[in-house]
Amino acid sequence: MWTLQAQGKQRTVRTVSTLKAVPTLSHMAIVALMKAGTCKFLISQNTDGLHRKSGVPPDKIAELHGNAFLEICEKCGRQYMRDFPVRSGAGGVNDHFTGRYCPVCGGRLMDSIINFGEPLPQNVIRKAFEEASKADMCLVLGSSLTVSPASSIPEQVAKQGGKLVICNLQITPLDNLCTVRVFSKSDDFMSAVMKHLNMEIPEWRLHRRLIVGNKITNEKYTIYLKGVDIDGTPVSFIKTAEVSLFGRPYRLPEEPLQLSFKLPTVEDKELKAHIKLEFMGHYEEPPFEFDHTFSLDAPGEQLYHLEYNPYMREWRIVDEQSEINAMTISELKQKLSAMHVDYSGAIEKQDLKNLLQKSTEQKRSAATSP
Ligand SMILES: [Zn+2]
Repeated sequence: MWTLQAQGKQRTVRTVSTLKAVPTLSHMAIVALMKAGTCKFLISQNTDGLHRKSGVPPDKIAELHGNAFLEICEKCGRQYMRDFPVRSGAGGVNDHFTGRYCPVCGGRLMDSIINFGEPLPQNVIRKAFEEASKADMCLVLGSSLTVSPASSIPEQVAKQGGKLVICNLQITPLDNLCTVRVFSKSDDFMSAVMKHLNMEIPEWRLHRRLIVGNKITNEKYTIYLKGVDIDGTPVSFIKTAEVSLFGRPYRLPEEPLQLSFKLPTVEDKELKAHIKLEFMGHYEEPPFEFDHTFSLDAPGEQLYHLEYNPYMREWRIVDEQSEINAMTISELKQKLSAMHVDYSGAIEKQDLKNLLQKSTEQKRSAATSP
């Protein structure tokens, strides 16, 4: 709300209160601090998945007690962030199989919730302590610090000479180690902190990535749409799609969203399409329509980054230029799937950047070479 007021805009559709389970002011302040490089790492005891949803990259967070919206392939380690709680528990409390399978390797998908009495994932804990050992300051928000080993992390930072700031409403066992002690709600405190730092708290946006591709196999021409995560992992967020070609709409009723037809005998090197996406609707997203041109002589893939404003209920394409060819996407997937195996494995942003840059250079040199 503060952002809209600052911009002199008015909400046209509805207020935050009608939206369920979206990141709060504190979540978004943390995202802003991370982008600025002030906050290096986030350790969470929450299982609501809101930190991941807010935009904290997977390599910058340790979710000590799991994430109710995250399922992990037991075979390849790929992480699937869902818009619904993934737990099935059909086989009892300790059954973590969600009933779904990894669309990439076929492995069983397991929920990441830690039940009472189950050990916390060691690699996640290890990562949390490793990050804490490098910290010169630890900010604790809304935790009573009574659950071990989460409570040992701020203690470690204080004992190694770092500053400890605790903000919550009740006393904690570490109060005597604090540099700053604040009794308030997290949102009130973070709002004041960000104001003091002269930093804006961004409003939450939903980010979706869509690959639009085409290929030719056995004289058949296939066009396809697929949702992906930032690391290339498949994400199912499209319910149905409609692709208009040659002035006719074709409905793609479910995944896989693809359409095959005999290549028309036209001289054109391009095929112009109008694409309409309908979404699962977890955020009451309206359909989104856009034009796409398929290249007939050089089939490939284009990555669209879509951003949804849930308060205005508006979609937009963030960067239409972020083209990646098919080969580079599979390279990216390979590289990242290798990193995926360890849940705690850091996916370095730099690696992604390098890969994307490499892809752009490849494209450029391909375009300039005869
Ligand atoms: Zn898998």
